[in-house]
Amino acid sequence: MSRLSLYLHIPFCKTRCSYCDFNTYTNLDQLYGRYTNALCTEIERTLSALTSENYQPLKPLPARSDSINPRLSVATLFFGGGTPSLLPPVLLEKVMQTIARYALFAPKTEITVEANPGTLSLEKLRLLRDMGINRLSFGVQTFDDDLLRTLGRLHNGAGAIEAYNLARRVGFDNLNLDFIYGLPNQSLAAWRISLERAVSLRPEHLSLYALTVEEQTAMGRALARGSLPSPNDDLMADMYLLALELLDKAGYVQYEISNWALSEKFACRHNLVYWRNEPYIGFGPGAHSSFAGYRYAVLKDPQQYIRRLEEGKSVIEVEEAEPITPELKLTDTVILALRLNEGLELARIEREFGLSLEQLFPGVVENLVRLGLLEEFRDEAHESRLRLTVRGRLLSNEVFIRFLP
Ligand code: SF4
Repeated sequence: MSRLSLYLHIPFCKTRCSYCDFNTYTNLDQLYGRYTNALCTEIERTLSALTSENYQPLKPLPARSDSINPRLSVATLFFGGGTPSLLPPVLLEKVMQTIARYALFAPKTEITVEANPGTLSLEKLRLLRDMGINRLSFGVQTFDDDLLRTLGRLHNGAGAIEAYNLARRVGFDNLNLDFIYGLPNQSLAAWRISLERAVSLRPEHLSLYALTVEEQTAMGRALARGSLPSPNDDLMADMYLLALELLDKAGYVQYEISNWALSEKFACRHNLVYWRNEPYIGFGPGAHSSFAGYRYAVLKDPQQYIRRLEEGKSVIEVEEAEPITPELKLTDTVILALRLNEGLELARIEREFGLSLEQLFPGVVENLVRLGLLEEFRDEAHESRLRLTVRGRLLSNEVFIRFLP
């Protein structure tokens, strides 16, 4: 039985947030129906070919049958974007039904939809719940209305709380709230208020990301002009440390550099697939996959994506696909595992790559341990593992570059 983790990209937003450089587009509402059909075609092609002995991810065959394959089951499904909650629920359901024609959904399949507070109503939430979506991820970012305006978000702080309460009312019991810290003009005190408000809502999961500013975004241009202050690294570090302290006191367990859950069972299973360097397939414009020995992506432009699928052509960027070589796999396995608090199981490296981490990267671990960035520990099964220290989490990129080929 192959267990699949599927990512579905919905590349539409109502407006463009000032810091956003994701593959998303505004004013394409008229494409929602055709886009959904194209997405279903891409899914059909891949899933119907998947158990064929000749399966080749870079050349999906035409869809072969529409009967369920008992050897495929969906472990996790993630609608990301963009703003998936903008699509009418009936279209999201169509995508789920298409997948269900080819693979089994276990009762415990984690099915997440990224949702923006400004796009939800009680009725829409009820429909999402009824079709089997069992996890929502809200892009709250901050509860501070001035900062939300700087970010160009659709909602205000009160609107985010209202959307959260509506989701609870219709029965969602696995909710994530996303926040960003280090925003222009955000003080440590303002960050504390957002964090305290977040934990008082008791979401099952919290993701806290440090702001990264891309040059080509509206915020990047404002910073370059000097009309917004640049992020301050020391303040960002203080904000991260404050989050560690507050969330720990509030009973949240950190399981990844930027992610916390009320208990282990609420850790995001879909994202754990990425961090454990396990295979996944992404559908939709710009979506990435790591599957059947290749890393590859779908072309980015949604209109071209639709046209090519309507014409029966491939949408994979074949020339940019990379075979997953042992070197690439090793680097990814080490760096991704170190993001997790469970860390890297050292025996896994010997098992999968035939040599110890010390043999593969002589002196690197010892040096990072001496610098106080990594620590070795034993897990409950007495396996030796390696993880970032708190200081290492603050300087994670300094650690990760030492494991590049
Ligand atoms: S809602 Fe998300 S994906 Fe859409 S523009 Fe804003 S940050 Fe980007």
